[in-house]
Amino acid sequence: MNITFYGGVREVTGSMHLISSGNDHVLLDCGMIQGRRKESEARNKILPFHPGLITNAILSHAHIDHSGRLPILTRNEFNGRIACTRATADACRYLLMDSAHIQESDARYLNYKTVRHFLYQIKASQKTQDVSRKEKAKIQALLKKDHHELNTDAIDDIMHRYHLDRIIPLYTRDDAEKSLGFFDGYPYGYPISVGRDMSALFYDAGHILGSSITVIRAVEKQKKFTIVYTGDIGRFDMPILQNPTLNFAEEDRNVDLLIMESTYGNRVHEPTADLKPSLKNVLNETWARGGSLIIPAFAYGRTQDLLYRLHELFNENAIPRLPVYVDSPLATQITRVFGEHPEVFDAQTHTTFLEKGQNPFSFDQVTFVSSVEDSMALMREERPHIVIAGSGMCEGGRVLHHLRYKIHNPKNTILIVGFMAKNTLGRRILEKGLAYEADGRSGPPPLVRFFNKDYPLKAHVVRLGGFSAHADRDEMTRFLKESNLNIKKIAVVHGEEEQSLAFETHLNQAGFSAKAPMPGEIMTLE
Ligand SMILES: [Zn+2]
Repeated sequence: MNITFYGGVREVTGSMHLISSGNDHVLLDCGMIQGRRKESEARNKILPFHPGLITNAILSHAHIDHSGRLPILTRNEFNGRIACTRATADACRYLLMDSAHIQESDARYLNYKTVRHFLYQIKASQKTQDVSRKEKAKIQALLKKDHHELNTDAIDDIMHRYHLDRIIPLYTRDDAEKSLGFFDGYPYGYPISVGRDMSALFYDAGHILGSSITVIRAVEKQKKFTIVYTGDIGRFDMPILQNPTLNFAEEDRNVDLLIMESTYGNRVHEPTADLKPSLKNVLNETWARGGSLIIPAFAYGRTQDLLYRLHELFNENAIPRLPVYVDSPLATQITRVFGEHPEVFDAQTHTTFLEKGQNPFSFDQVTFVSSVEDSMALMREERPHIVIAGSGMCEGGRVLHHLRYKIHNPKNTILIVGFMAKNTLGRRILEKGLAYEADGRSGPPPLVRFFNKDYPLKAHVVRLGGFSAHADRDEMTRFLKESNLNIKKIAVVHGEEEQSLAFETHLNQAGFSAKAPMPGEIMTLE
């Protein structure tokens, strides 16, 4: 039996592994590679196998770095099914459509830029001088229907006529829609046949709603094998979700190979117990200044974590009853998916909310903003409020408009609750804001550039680090030590190279037999 580690190997995105045994070829995850656009686009476009060869796919959870290339898999000649938990299937309905929408609009915008640049060059060469403002405006008028909408017909026409290089979206909404027809959602603990001699069963991974640790049982030449794929592992004692599973069924306990994530293989998080009091302090300080709180947050997971904790603080009368706005259509849809899956919530969520007849994510003060008009009115709202909006790293979406109106006001707070990757606006706000705070806010405020303009960062910037959905090194070690699994071998995946290698060493020192495979490496079980 062979396991090929195709993606999410010595990196954190693009998870994809293949288990091959006899005639069965079962794919574990089919994630999008994220990062610099040009490099990741080239790598995302081509799957390392023919989709027709895959028997079935198993999806550990709905995050795009695990699910984002499924529409490419299912576009042509895939004859299998995609097995996952019910909540994962429900979340993918929105996340994959949103991902396709982003692919399409990015491609449209890049093609617009290509054509605009080409027309400017023609004008410049005609006059051998810079293009005048008037001529630029004329070109803009040709290529844009109004301030927001591009004239795609005109852009396509010019691209075609002058043979310009067109960017084609990785996949379209039609492709994403088609992929949704392949999903089969199952409850945890329900055995599924995924190949002629292979079955799978999901246990809760506690990482995000619907996330699973998958046990794959296979028979090859009359010999039985058990492979366990952790997907992403969650943390212990976080609200909403169950802890990562520690008790596995007797027949799943003896594991030939554990494929394990290592995002934080060499790091330890801030304790989760500090989160609620810290959130309370930030809110009360902002309220005392008469300001608003802007929280950039991912639609899936972080938004619901925040709503849960705000609801709890409101119930305890620990914070002023400020209005809360979730200004993201995707977050609104995903919050509904959360509400529809109380069967996977932990006991704490049941006692704190459900047994009292309360929905953890919906309460008197919260408004889900859907229309653009309502969102625009909210941007200009000056009465103190809390707004949760995407994108999580401030790279696009409605949060940019809230920042545009609120970043220059020292009464306001920008609360950072998620990881901010390098070269994102979120990272710049975080670094410049924290440095300014550390300096005692003396001197002129730092400038932050977006929408082609420099904005003075006068709003306070606060970071709460304990929200991570990934187990850290100690929590992953706890999972291994406290679970009832007997593990022969561990393949360390899903971590930056440095994290994976450090975790590999850590595990070997702790008495396990661990290896961080290279991308494309094949491991054989006999
Ligand atoms: Zn994840």
